[in-house]
Amino acid sequence: MNWISNYVRPTINSIFKRSDVPDNLWTKCPECGTMLFHRELSENQQVCSNCDHHMNITPRDRFAALFDGGIFTEVKVKDPISDPLQFRDQKKYPDRMRAAQKATGEKEAMLVAEGEIGRTSIVAAAQDFSFMAGSMGMYVGNAFIAGVERAIAKKCPFVMFSAAGGARMQEGILSLMQMPRTTVAIEMLREANLPYVVVLTHPTTGGVTASYAMLGDVQIAEPNALICFAGPRVIEQTIREKLPEGFQRAEYLLDHGMLDRVTDRRKMKDELVTILRMLGGLPPAVAGELPPPAGLDTEFVEEAPVSKTPATAAPKGAVADSQKSAKPVAAAAAKK
Ligand SMILES: [Zn+2]
Repeated sequence: MNWISNYVRPTINSIFKRSDVPDNLWTKCPECGTMLFHRELSENQQVCSNCDHHMNITPRDRFAALFDGGIFTEVKVKDPISDPLQFRDQKKYPDRMRAAQKATGEKEAMLVAEGEIGRTSIVAAAQDFSFMAGSMGMYVGNAFIAGVERAIAKKCPFVMFSAAGGARMQEGILSLMQMPRTTVAIEMLREANLPYVVVLTHPTTGGVTASYAMLGDVQIAEPNALICFAGPRVIEQTIREKLPEGFQRAEYLLDHGMLDRVTDRRKMKDELVTILRMLGGLPPAVAGELPPPAGLDTEFVEEAPVSKTPATAAPKGAVADSQKSAKPVAAAAAKK
């Protein structure tokens, strides 16, 4: 028996073990159970090709798919004081931060970038649910405000991709203060007549829903995203009643007038381009690149993209008379 377990089994295992195959080559869809090839899944923006289930996507991957040619510039965010309360639960807050930074490769739970989508310049911010559940702390507040200020300086729209488990409890009241801070920032955008579009992704909950995620001029959500202040389980326990099917999901909220659109992630870019150009009073987006005229030498062709396109040179002052009709989708969830 010893001979079998000590010699034969390890030998067989070493013959059949393929150490050169990474174990993250396949991802199982949590909805339909299909095994999805890793590369195909990331080309499909983390959407299941079988059942269209939208999985979490990191801000960096999202921006790579969103911006023209995957090119974007990060907007610098002011660092807040770290661990102001010297908070400790099972772990110290700085230890949790370090673990999250190591796991995600990101500095914090929100990434802000500027660039062009469909030749329309925008500033976009995205929350990273894999970073401490995308929780809203002082850095996220700073990032949001940095994005808004950049959008105002560039006179371009601000697009927010929200995903959060709520406020960051390790920062206590200081995290809750980000709700009024971001609301004031949105007011600044409104005074500058610039569109603010929110894309709600799964899940957007708590203090984020109660502040900037519900204050967009246009509210778009990804399919089947959970969008709520308090989760369905908490509500069920409180009111002791069974909640209707699909409660607090994107489609349900669209039917009940909380959202304007529910859009597939793969069609999100085109939809955003259309909406933002319409709000900005710009002509429709250029559908594709024209081939360079024949007979030109390569030097000239290389220089050509530097010149301003009609799209970017369009009158910027035209940004949004339609803004005036922007509906106040006030933080209804806050009143719950
Ligand atoms: Zn699936």
